[in-house]
Amino acid sequence: MTPPNHTKGQPVQCACMTDAFAALPPELRPRPKKKSSLRKVTCPGCGLVYWTNRETDLCMECEKKGLAART
Ligand SMILES: [Zn+2]
Repeated sequence: MTPPNHTKGQPVQCACMTDAFAALPPELRPRPKKKSSLRKVTCPGCGLVYWTNRETDLCMECEKKGLAART
């Protein structure tokens, strides 16, 4: 008598562990903020020291008062 072949019915397991977070696209990374062109000025009208990115040194209040048009 020949003994029957003992075939082990083990399922083939895939050993490759796929990491879903390893291939994050660079779009998801936080970008550094773009540096603005702010400059520190002193308003010639009221002496207010503030930051602005405009060309005039006059603050918004003095500009509304019309001091910019004064010659
Ligand atoms: Zn002002």
